[in-house]
This record gives sequence, structure tokens and C-alpha cells, in this order.
Amino acid sequence: MQGKIIKGIAGFYYVYAEETDTIYECKAKGIFRNRKVKPLVGDLVAIEVLDEEQAKGNITEILPRKNELIRPASANVDQAMVIFAAANPEPNFHLLDRFLVMMDYQNVPTVICFNKEDLIGADEKERLREIYAGADCQIVFTSTYEKTGIDKVCEILEGKTTVLAGPSGVGKSSMTNLLLPDARMETGDISKIGRGRHTTRHSEIFHISGRSYLMDTPGFTSMNLPELEKEDLRFYFPEFEPLEGSCRFNGCVHMNEPDCAVKAAVSDGKIHKMRYESYTTMYQELKEQKKY
Ligand code: GDP
Ligand code: ZN
Repeated sequence: MQGKIIKGIAGFYYVYAEETDTIYECKAKGIFRNRKVKPLVGDLVAIEVLDEEQAKGNITEILPRKNELIRPASANVDQAMVIFAAANPEPNFHLLDRFLVMMDYQNVPTVICFNKEDLIGADEKERLREIYAGADCQIVFTSTYEKTGIDKVCEILEGKTTVLAGPSGVGKSSMTNLLLPDARMETGDISKIGRGRHTTRHSEIFHISGRSYLMDTPGFTSMNLPELEKEDLRFYFPEFEPLEGSCRFNGCVHMNEPDCAVKAAVSDGKIHKMRYESYTTMYQELKEQKKY
């Protein structure tokens, strides 16, 4: 039988098999011990069922991966959705931008969800849209209070495995609770292995419907940068791309060089100041890291 690893805790892997609509508690017996490949949340695996009644089994094979993410450790992810509150707390743009770099580095397209849209007006919404206008991400506004934008989120998730990430306090749990079918929340092995109120301490995948899966991840307060050369950071800011080659110097990193087209675009308001500030902060950080 085949299934998808939805969770891994303390040497056990919980494998959801569509065929029987059951979550099996599995061990990865012997076969992986001598290999470098370790099962990841999101892996499609072949299992042998040892006990149908108790829903226990063994993972016998990991099927080829579409991709493999370092952070959050997972396999076969189609996209990420990062949630920030539009207000209360104010979005931490720098943290969001670091997340975008990390995902882009891993070739994972990201959707930005600004939740708590009930707390902001049209102007603020426009401002948020403008900041990310050139960032090559879809943007969606939601309110889990007023249940606005949820249909749009469902549409985005349809048929995909999506990593859901965000700092705490933004409404990520409220969103997850809205998206999960109730039955799955209350029954089955998930509650058996210790889920009361929805809190996330490790990554876990939920089957939403059909082929849609949601991977909930712990709230983050910081985000490491990928191991990038500082000269390559600029390629992770899609708004710089059309200007590549327009600066006076070849290979301009848009920092202190004269006649820099990116800096000019920032001055003209064509590239948002906030995004450029994120860029320079990250650039400095990569530069410092290199020194040690
Ligand atoms: P998490 O920490 O990201 O999982 O967020 P929670 O779902 O626990 O929500 C954090 C706080 O934000 C709680 O006080 C929620 O009541 C509140 N909250 C969640 N969603 C919304 C929303 O859409 N609008 C408003 N105004 N508050 C919200
Ligand atoms: Zn430049």
C-alpha cells in the first residue's frame, strides 16, 4: 500500500493511506539505517501493514521525491503560504522577506496571506500590496474572524501540498482550524497521539480534501538566510531583475556603487523602500558571516 508521511515523532512515522483512509503508525525498519536517505514529512512511501486493526505498519520504500526542503524539513512540497497579521501585530516585513528568500532559494513558490484584514482599511491594504507588488508572490487578504478570503485560500490550496508558516499571534491556528475538516480534527490517530487544542510544536501534514494537503509548521520568530554568496542575494529579489544590466557596473550588487539603476528605482518609488532595506540588511549579514 502507498501513503504519505504526515508526521514523524520519536522514530514513528504516521502514514496516511488514501486507499483505506487510515493513518498507520509505522517504523522505518532496518532498510534506511545504512542509507543516507531518511524519511521526511511529505514523503510518499510504500508500507506493509502489520496490523490493520491497530493501524500499524512498516515503511518499506520511499518513493522518488519531487523536492526536499531543509526548512521546514519536508518532501514533495508544492508551495508555501506564509501568514502575517495585517495589523496587531504589525507585519514584520524583514522577517517576511527572509522567509521569501529562503523559499525562493528552495524553488518553492510562496503566497503571502495577510490575516486580520478586519483590522485595516483600504489604504493599508493598498500599501501592503504595493510593498510586495514586484516580489513575484500572490497576495491574499483574510480574516478568520469574519471568514473573508477563506474561499480564496481554499482555491490556492486546491490539489497541492502547501507549507503553512508564520510567526505566532497572526492567526495561523485559527486559519488551520477553519481549513481542516472537523472530522479529521476529532477522530483518528491524530487525536490519539496527543492533540488537544490545535498547537503546533513540530511539522505535521493534514489532509484537507482530495489531493490537498496542508503542512502546519511551528510559529517562527527568526529565519536564517540560506548559504548564499552575498553577490547572489540580488537574484532573490524579483523586482531587481528587470534592471539587471542597467547599472553602470557589471555585477553591481546595488549597495554603494555609483549610477545604480536599482537605487534609482528605489528613489523613484518603483521599487519599495522597505524591500530594498531588507535587501541591504541581508546583504550586510551575509558579508559579516563570510568574515568568520
Ligand atoms: P497563531 O498564534 O498564529 O496560531 O494565532 P491564533 O489563531 O492563536 O490567533 C492569535 C490572536 O489573533 C488571537 O487572539 C485571535 O483571536 C486573533 N485573531 C486570529 N484571527 C484573527 C482575525 O482574522 N482578525 C482579528 N482581528 N484577530 C484575529
Ligand atoms: Zn545596481
